[in-house]
Amino acid sequence: MTGMSERGPVPEAPVAHSPAGTGHGAFDGHHPPSRRRVEECVHCGFCLPACPTYGLWGEEMDSPRGRILLMKEALEGHIALDDVFVRHMDACLGCMACMSACPSGVRYDELIEATRAQIERLHRRGPLERAYREALFAVFPHPGRVRVAAVAAWAYQRSGLAGALHARRWPDRLPGRMGRWREALRALDGLMPPVSLGAVARPLPRQVGPHGAPRRRVGLVAGCIQRGFFAQVNWATVRVLVAEGCEVVVPRPQGCCGALMVHAGREASALRSARALVDAFEGWELDDVVVNAAGCGSTLKDYGRLLADDPGYAGRASGLAGKARDVTEVLAGLEPRARRHPVRARVAYHDACHLSHAQGVRSQPRQVLASVPGLEVVELGDDQCCGSAGIYNLVQPEAGEELGRHKADLVRAAGVEAVVTANPGCNLQLRRFLGPGVPVFHPVEVLDASLRGRPSLAGAQGV
Ligand code: SF4
Ligand code: SF4
Repeated sequence: MTGMSERGPVPEAPVAHSPAGTGHGAFDGHHPPSRRRVEECVHCGFCLPACPTYGLWGEEMDSPRGRILLMKEALEGHIALDDVFVRHMDACLGCMACMSACPSGVRYDELIEATRAQIERLHRRGPLERAYREALFAVFPHPGRVRVAAVAAWAYQRSGLAGALHARRWPDRLPGRMGRWREALRALDGLMPPVSLGAVARPLPRQVGPHGAPRRRVGLVAGCIQRGFFAQVNWATVRVLVAEGCEVVVPRPQGCCGALMVHAGREASALRSARALVDAFEGWELDDVVVNAAGCGSTLKDYGRLLADDPGYAGRASGLAGKARDVTEVLAGLEPRARRHPVRARVAYHDACHLSHAQGVRSQPRQVLASVPGLEVVELGDDQCCGSAGIYNLVQPEAGEELGRHKADLVRAAGVEAVVTANPGCNLQLRRFLGPGVPVFHPVEVLDASLRGRPSLAGAQGV
């Protein structure tokens, strides 16, 4: 994800519109979608079969080609950023499958990111929608608040309240006029994973030396959801890196990397988070900045573009972006050193979109899994989005559910005992639709189980 931008300070209020047809049309002057990028689309339609939302509804305006055409029409001032325009942009998963499919190299990622930032600045959503989105963003990009939410979720699960309310199918009992809010609450409730209080309460070490001769010095991005709900993945990441000869540092204080906000068009808060993370990693002299959440990794690799016009951060942001690696990229680049013990299991690997389509990281997680003796890895034969996509399954619950069920059906048909995926959002979504019978693991948890001599995946998710 590279490329120069003209990103300046984010305006507090909408910038004056250009006259239709002469400037930015319905967009304001602060980073409208690039006309040059829009015109790179030759309307061939090769991306259509790859697009999950086109697959769901068969509607041209819910395809990449259709959305790019809407951007063009808005740029030319022929249409406004009205409810219809916003509905088609909101319905996009941001999965970037269209970029993998496009023979012309159209940068749909930059186009949808710019369009969403304009929508958030220029379009006023209804009061319920605004309140709901504000509530989500008041929690998810704040690691401290996510941990509080995780403790509250633990209490909710332990008190028996969760079981009692589920038995009564509580979201279904809400009044019919709540419509899609009922679906959103059902999704929020269904996505809550079982929480381990021990994992949430135990802070990661600040610095750990390598086993054996040092090979690399790496810094770990601890994440927000990962830290709150999947602390065991961070612990497994530290253990496998140390076992493979890496010194691991976990710089503090660390907030959100900004990924959720970038994907939702909340530009000002995304840039604030990005600057704070650049500051947190300053001065550690690292070989790699390691990420174990695909959505965070794709945003970190794009920091150079995001902060290009901030003279205080541009150089440091591209420096950090240049060192950002998914943990599987680092592990695959190291000749295995620690002894692998057999793990007898048959698992499916699910490509997280922000790892495969956005970062092009496909072979490395498979290579890491292939290094574990006894493990059988089954291909699902479908790299379509599972419907998680950041907050998509919470703001577009019906589409999120349809895609989640489709993915779960594929996993069940594969006859595996577990799924492996490298993104916390996919993990939550797959758990929801697979249920407790088919657990979901991060690749480092599987490798960690092997290094620790666990003969199966049962009990692999420990700190
Ligand atoms: S990002 Fe995904 S959902 Fe959006 S247009 Fe591209 S393929 Fe379709
Ligand atoms: S494949 Fe690329 S060029 Fe063809 S319609 Fe889709 S985005 Fe446009």
